[in-house]
Amino acid sequence: MNILRFQDLVSAGRVAGRRVFIRADLNVPLDDQGAITEDTRIRASLPCIEQALGAGAAVMVTSHLGRPSEGVFKPEDSLAPVARRLGELLGRDVPLVSNWVDGVDVAAGQVVLLENCRLNKGEKKNDEALARKMAALCDIFVHDAFGTAHRAEASTYGIAEHAPVACAGPLLSAEIDAIGKALAAPKRPLVAIVAGSKVSSKLTILKALAEKVDQLIVGGGIANTFMLAAGLPIGKSLAEADLVEEARAVIDAMQKRGAAVPIPVDVVVADRFAADAKATVKASTDVAADDLILDIGPQTAAALAEQLKSSGTIVWNGPVGVFEFDAFSHGTEVLARAIAQSPAFSIAGGGDTLAAISKYGIERDIGYISTGGGAFLEVLEGKTLPAFEVLQRRADSAK
Ligand code: ADP
Ligand code: MG
Repeated sequence: MNILRFQDLVSAGRVAGRRVFIRADLNVPLDDQGAITEDTRIRASLPCIEQALGAGAAVMVTSHLGRPSEGVFKPEDSLAPVARRLGELLGRDVPLVSNWVDGVDVAAGQVVLLENCRLNKGEKKNDEALARKMAALCDIFVHDAFGTAHRAEASTYGIAEHAPVACAGPLLSAEIDAIGKALAAPKRPLVAIVAGSKVSSKLTILKALAEKVDQLIVGGGIANTFMLAAGLPIGKSLAEADLVEEARAVIDAMQKRGAAVPIPVDVVVADRFAADAKATVKASTDVAADDLILDIGPQTAAALAEQLKSSGTIVWNGPVGVFEFDAFSHGTEVLARAIAQSPAFSIAGGGDTLAAISKYGIERDIGYISTGGGAFLEVLEGKTLPAFEVLQRRADSAK
């Protein structure tokens, strides 16, 4: 993807003395007292800020926090706790600036945090006047918030259209590279694991991937719907009977290309949805009318794990069972460990998928862990994210 990268501007000496506006994702969870409970996103944003400061820029950073009403300031929507934590991590004072749209005082070598950008009227609908004002604050706009890359808002999209220079920060660049490696020019065989609770929420992903991948591993409620499509009994399991035709279409599309959707040969069932429910392994042909399938069986997991070993690229979204309950976590754990051990380039994303990765402590063994939940899913759906589109357009017109 032809996109200007902030790193390239730094290397070319084009950043010193410039006003740099960084759109970061500092949307951290806060407790009821307003204390930060988890600061990964702030730490992840440091490289870009440090790079800009190191290059001698005048640095402005902003982010959204929560979902405030535009034009209405409430103390709980303030980035004040983020400014404090950012200051601790950078080892310097980070002043928080309110009402910044019409002008910001910041000198070269300094960094300021601009108050929650979603407080500005017109942010969400990408108001052009607002975007132009933001763009006028800077010489260089840096998009470094992949989590917002699927949205076109004033601080993520409009500003990129109007700023003198618009580029991708290190976090966004890393996402672009990993996504390109996994989907644009993947090492084959390319295997996707699409699992989790609902087919409906991931149907577009299944259809888009059915055109690309060599193998589509389904799990969770999604596998149950595919089992129905294959004519297997699923008892009381979570499934979407109205989507059986769609599931069959995905299977057909894959078959036409000589690719496959492996259907589980065995499953782990429970009599109720509970952590202490008794887990019974059954052949998938033997599922009884009152059974609930909560995991793929050991034979299925072992066969899939074997295939993952010889994959070239693995894309993973969704746990294949109710991994939150230990008795039904084995399928997800076996696949997670197989992905970790596979020489394939792997890319994983999704809220619960990240929770599973952290539960099994395999963070370091995944090629790339995507930080943008919704944005990652939209990439898998085959959509061009607005952030990528606008940065590409700016880079093309600068040629
Ligand atoms: P992600 O957040 O990674 O995109 P999802 O939200 O789509 O994943 O799905 C994760 C959820 O699906 C988990 O909470 C898990 O317990 C649930 N799940 C997985 N398998 C089953 C199943 N067989 N029956 C019911 N729920 C399931
Ligand atoms: Mg989820």
